[in-house]
Amino acid sequence: MKRVFSSFDRIAVYHALNLLESEGIRAIVRNEMLSSAMGELPPAECQAEVWVLQEADAPRAETVIREGSQPAGGPPWRCACGELSEAQFTQCWSCGALKAAAQG
Ligand SMILES: [Zn+2]
Repeated sequence: MKRVFSSFDRIAVYHALNLLESEGIRAIVRNEMLSSAMGELPPAECQAEVWVLQEADAPRAETVIREGSQPAGGPPWRCACGELSEAQFTQCWSCGALKAAAQG
């Protein structure tokens, strides 16, 4: 296991997790709720973290997260199912199709 991302922003953490899952990289979130559950660690240690299960996936995972976490850029994209998604989303919220597939 290797940590590839950490943040106090749980939305960002789960976004990173979703990015990895959409790439077929197995990953988990750790430390969630640790601050309230454990009460042992100082706040700085209580960021939620994304870990990949296979350390060999780490370099690719970091690339996926970096590219997927960039600020919204570009126009919204339209999925094959007809739904419009903002540029920062890599998957259709409606049917789950990948942006890459929609853009051919
Ligand atoms: Zn769709």
